[in-house]
Amino acid sequence: MKKHKARKRFGQNFLTDPMVIQRIVDSIAPLTNELFIEIGPGQAALTHPLIASGIELHLVEIDRDLAERLALQFRAHPAVHMHVGDALKMDFAAVSDKRKFRLVGNLPYNISTPLLFHLLTWSTLISDMHFMLQREVVNRMAASPGTKAWGRLSIMCQYHCQIMPLFTVEPESFSPAPRVQSGFVRLIPHQKPPVRIASKKTFDQVVLKAFSMRRKTLRNSLRGLLDVSQIEQAGIDPGLRAEALGLEQFAALSNLLE
Ligand code: SAM
Repeated sequence: MKKHKARKRFGQNFLTDPMVIQRIVDSIAPLTNELFIEIGPGQAALTHPLIASGIELHLVEIDRDLAERLALQFRAHPAVHMHVGDALKMDFAAVSDKRKFRLVGNLPYNISTPLLFHLLTWSTLISDMHFMLQREVVNRMAASPGTKAWGRLSIMCQYHCQIMPLFTVEPESFSPAPRVQSGFVRLIPHQKPPVRIASKKTFDQVVLKAFSMRRKTLRNSLRGLLDVSQIEQAGIDPGLRAEALGLEQFAALSNLLE
């Protein structure tokens, strides 16, 4: 079969380092009969060792050429199922047939943030997630309030999950090599949300607006949504910037609107 040429538009950086692949699979620790979904299997660097552990595996791949190769490669494997399409639009309840599943992937870096937001909407169906991402994105997911990395991604990830950065991976472990360092991260969805939110939609709206002008004070950035007296009513100084607020304070602000 002709060698596949990596497609930039699909964020294709294939893992080639056997030590890193082994470390990833050891961190995931798949058990026989567990249900897994892999996003972007590509040339099956992770798929092969995952299947070897006797799991049921659903593959979601957007690149039709790669999907065709994968279907051919795994045609004799009854526990492997191919879903050709865009993970950003995928109905994961339909893929998993509403069963709880474990999610893995060396994700396409060009769409990592919108993809994470989409995946978080399925968190009640997910036991855990393991992803390779740009290291900078992993840092933002795991950031603490009051730091430069703290933002909408940190808040949404930490509202839904416990975030555990596991290890860093150098560009030479991929082909073609990405321009940035990568990080491997585990996300474990919370059994119970860490803060009470009356409406997720309103919470998201407040967080988005507060960080859309992160250098401005809340008094200015939240104008039109919450006025100074309402911000004070939530026990928050309107002279602060969004990056100073933690999950609880964003929850308090958004609950005022409900
Ligand atoms: N898992 C392989 C590996 O580790 O070598 C490939 C990882 S590569 C970084 C990202 C993979 O995601 C590619 O196979 C790419 O075609 C696929 N992909 C990109 N965008 C996608 C999307 N929106 N939905 C599903 N798969 C996508």
